[in-house]
Amino acid sequence: MDPTLSKQFEKFNTHGKLPSPKGVALQVIHLTEQQDATAQQIAKLINNDPSLASRIIKSANLLARREGRPVTSIIDAVTVLGFKSVRQLALSLSLVADFGSGACAGFDYQEFWAHSVCCGVAAQQLVSKMSIGVADEAFLVGLLSQIGRLTLSTVFPDQYSQLITQTSDAQSLSKLERNTFGLDHNQITAIMLKDWGMPELFQDIALHLENPDTSQFAEGSRNWRLLQLFHFANDIAALCTSNPTVRFQKVPQMMLLATRVGIETDALVAIGDLVIKELGEWSSLLNIKVAKIPPFEQMLNAASIAHELKGVEALPGSTADSVKLNILLVEDDRSLLLLYKSMLEKSGHLVTTAGNGKVALEIVKNTPPQLIISDWMMPEMDGLQLCKEIRKNPSYNNIYIFLITAQESTANLVEAFEAGVDDYLTKPINAKVFAARLRAAQRIVQLQITQEQERLQLRKFADELALSNKRLQELVLTDALTGLPNRRYGIERLEQEWAIASRSGNSVCCMMIDVDRFKSVNDTYGHQFGDEALKMVANNLRLAARKQDVVCRFGGEEFLVICSNTDEKACFQYAERLRLQVAAQPLQVQGKIVPITISVGLSSSNELANIESMMHLADERLYKAKSAGRNRTVAG
Ligand code: GH3
Ligand code: MG
Ligand code: MG
Ligand code: MG
Repeated sequence: MDPTLSKQFEKFNTHGKLPSPKGVALQVIHLTEQQDATAQQIAKLINNDPSLASRIIKSANLLARREGRPVTSIIDAVTVLGFKSVRQLALSLSLVADFGSGACAGFDYQEFWAHSVCCGVAAQQLVSKMSIGVADEAFLVGLLSQIGRLTLSTVFPDQYSQLITQTSDAQSLSKLERNTFGLDHNQITAIMLKDWGMPELFQDIALHLENPDTSQFAEGSRNWRLLQLFHFANDIAALCTSNPTVRFQKVPQMMLLATRVGIETDALVAIGDLVIKELGEWSSLLNIKVAKIPPFEQMLNAASIAHELKGVEALPGSTADSVKLNILLVEDDRSLLLLYKSMLEKSGHLVTTAGNGKVALEIVKNTPPQLIISDWMMPEMDGLQLCKEIRKNPSYNNIYIFLITAQESTANLVEAFEAGVDDYLTKPINAKVFAARLRAAQRIVQLQITQEQERLQLRKFADELALSNKRLQELVLTDALTGLPNRRYGIERLEQEWAIASRSGNSVCCMMIDVDRFKSVNDTYGHQFGDEALKMVANNLRLAARKQDVVCRFGGEEFLVICSNTDEKACFQYAERLRLQVAAQPLQVQGKIVPITISVGLSSSNELANIESMMHLADERLYKAKSAGRNRTVAG
């Protein structure tokens, strides 16, 4: 403790109004300070004040309940609780009795003591639940943890009354106090605990009670945990003693504190209800008025769980451009679920939640996440089983799985890793560790995303290659000048149609077409004009052809037309139609009309044994058409 602060405090004493024990209680304190004091001497002294004695015995019974054997005398109390505790008890009881009311108008003495007792009871419950020891002392430390407020209201009743009305926030009140009196109520409490012989640890706890982050305790150390517990106890006390309208607003904050000290919601409800019960017993013993407090479960339910937790920050190191993950959060504890969700969402991730493994598995099936953060112990299906189920399906291999374990289950970690868990975290979760582990998961997921992108890219290349191969193949089967299928395609197609016709018993016909006297067209108008002429003839043939017929450029100025499912007679008529259509559209060049005609020879599969002879016959008939004067069709 800063010596200048102690000096400042000494000035308070000059007023002679410091809250301090009087009469027998004071004598008890002096006696217990002597090295050779015996239990008998103390008992004798306390018994001089029957009212104090009876309250000490009753208190000892409340404090030492778990000893199993009732305390019936002061000697018993000293034996069970020890010198130190009896001394603190005498001190506290005397204070409560003497300062139940006072001159500070703005200070509610009854509420102050209700809060103090509640803080003591809560601290005792929390400390014993978390097995940190010092449970008996915890009650007295909790009880006296705000004694600085009583001191200020006693030493400076008018000034302090004015100060209190200015703010209800503990931090700003402390600031006002330091400005006005040179000391704030937490500093005063610490100094008084020192004067009353309380260990240094408890003085430190009192000093940082309302703002634990200012302490020098190493995070996670025993002292740090104790401070967190007392801070939490103070918060529970504030919740219990505040008026019902404000009370519900404080619940989410309390749930957040519970998660920080590793107390899950069900345990919190149990502890809270015990605190309410004990508070009732203590308040009737000490004659303090306490308003009725609803059961904790009811308070927790009434405070909307959707309520955003104030004070939850984004995980350290998360930036706007770090990978945003789709996270499935699985946790049966409501407070923890709320806390983790807030942390992750503040860090920019997309979070879905489930209360047990079974629900989580359904979500995975519908919308597989990139990361699962799951509690281990849960009803219905635990985290390990969930992991095993997920790993059964190879398509979920990429899901990164975090398991959250309580300290006692770390021994089973090998089993967890064998089940396919990627990483684990221990409760209570430390934000820095959580952030670091999450970054590792982000790197893995990022790697998977990159791999997947590369795989898709590769696939895209393959698809493009396949498409260009297809185009090349089409090119091989297409005539460049006219865009018609070429000779190769024509022959292949004729083979297909022949096979279909012979299976179905229908016939297929083919026409061999040759442009008449085309050489002279070239000779007269040039080769380029000849090309244009060929394109036009090809186009005329294509337009005149039926949908099911195939027109190919067979070579030079020759064309092959395949007519599937057609007999020779129909084919002849159709050939004539083609011939006339071509003849009807002469070409116009340099103001001259250039007539174009074709000759056609046709044959049918009905007459012949194979394709070669069918084409040969068509060729022969074409030749006949030429000899007979051209611009005609010859069939069988
Ligand atoms: P016919 O068939 O009536 O007996 O007389 P023709 O003049 O058409 O006879 P021939 O088969 O001897 O000549 C075909 C001519 O077609 C030869 C060639 O100059 C021309 N020819 C062939 N392919 C092309 C081509 O792709 N473009 C051009 N411009 N001319 C071609
Ligand atoms: Mg659980
Ligand atoms: Mg020819
Ligand atoms: Mg010709």
